[in-house]
Amino acid sequence: MPKFSGSCLCGKIKLRGNGNINVSPNCHCADCRRATGAVYATMLFITEDQVEIEGTPSTFHHKSDRGSDMEKCFCSNCGSQVFGRNSSRPGILSLRAGIIDQTELINPTVNVFLSSKVTSTPINNQLPAYDKMPN
Ligand SMILES: [Zn+2]
Ligand SMILES: [Zn+2]
Repeated sequence: MPKFSGSCLCGKIKLRGNGNINVSPNCHCADCRRATGAVYATMLFITEDQVEIEGTPSTFHHKSDRGSDMEKCFCSNCGSQVFGRNSSRPGILSLRAGIIDQTELINPTVNVFLSSKVTSTPINNQLPAYDKMPN
């Protein structure tokens, strides 16, 4: 029984997951802002072996502020970002929270890159907060 499912806007890329999501950052960095088109990105970190992916996303690579390789995976048809990989976290997929059907599973656990947040963005002060990405 899958715990969650998700898809891009057009449905060409679909995924199903069976794992628990332990870390879910709200990332306020400028890269996430540009890549998503939203003022911050909510991500769900999950081990890659717990996610089944249907369809082949296109990829774009760039460097993180620490020099690691960041891979953005998106649908070539509708342009939705679906997940990402960071070479400094092998085996971990960073799902874009907005693609998940079971929205009750989206519960951010931490705010990161607050140093570059948009001034008008409200912040949940109950969550741990970091200026950059903690280790
Ligand atoms: Zn699509
Ligand atoms: Zn970011």
